[in-house]
Amino acid sequence: MARFKRILLKLSGESLMGAKGHGIDENRLSEYAEQIKEIHDMGVQIGIVIGGGNIFRGLSGASKGFDRVKGDQMGMLATAINSLALSSALTAIGVKTRVLTAIRMEPIGEFYTKWRAIECMEAGEVCVFACGTGSPYFTTDTGSSLRGIEIEADVMFKGTRVDGVYTADPEKDPTATKFDEISYDEVLSRGLKVMDLSAICMCKDNGLPIVVFNMDVVGNLKKVINGEGIGTLVHP
Ligand code: UDP
Repeated sequence: MARFKRILLKLSGESLMGAKGHGIDENRLSEYAEQIKEIHDMGVQIGIVIGGGNIFRGLSGASKGFDRVKGDQMGMLATAINSLALSSALTAIGVKTRVLTAIRMEPIGEFYTKWRAIECMEAGEVCVFACGTGSPYFTTDTGSSLRGIEIEADVMFKGTRVDGVYTADPEKDPTATKFDEISYDEVLSRGLKVMDLSAICMCKDNGLPIVVFNMDVVGNLKKVINGEGIGTLVHP
């Protein structure tokens, strides 16, 4: 029996690059799909938001002269590409999926509503939520907070390439230490880069706990779901 009925999993687009440095690494993609299948087999209802940073980010586009809104729309389309890739990899290993998009683009995916998402998850499908919030000036972190709250997820799992929340960036500061748990307020007061501000604030205001963990180590998703003490829990 799984500890959670329904979860929101946030995956970074950047991690999908794997060793490639750009685009989609097929090995990383199939590792992600296998890990998701493992927890789906445990009976957990799963909604997924995947970023688009491996393809395009509006903010970096703006620094190169792109219109910010058009750049963000390009970023949202990038998340749709990644969502299709993930959905395809899951389907290939026998997991039924449903791509729900925040921007109308049938037949690429169905237009998102909370009720359609819940209906699909209750029927055993993994829902992949594409196009973030559907609006510019947001990120997929905020998109995941929003979807997590809307679908009444028990918890949001944020899969990253570090194994939790640290006092400083562990890739830059060797003295940084990891928190096993931390409050939303402490994340905010210490200015820790767990997720962007709007995403953290939404989780805080609506009581959605976040677990940050390293998704790039195969088997970790099952471990965090089972509460095996990896990652960092962010809560009230
Ligand atoms: N984006 C947006 N609105 C949203 C979600 C995403 O405009 O609600 C755009 C934004 O330009 C962002 C890009 O899509 O940079 C890709 O998402 P993100 O940077 O969150 O991807 P990740 O860092 O997780 O790979």
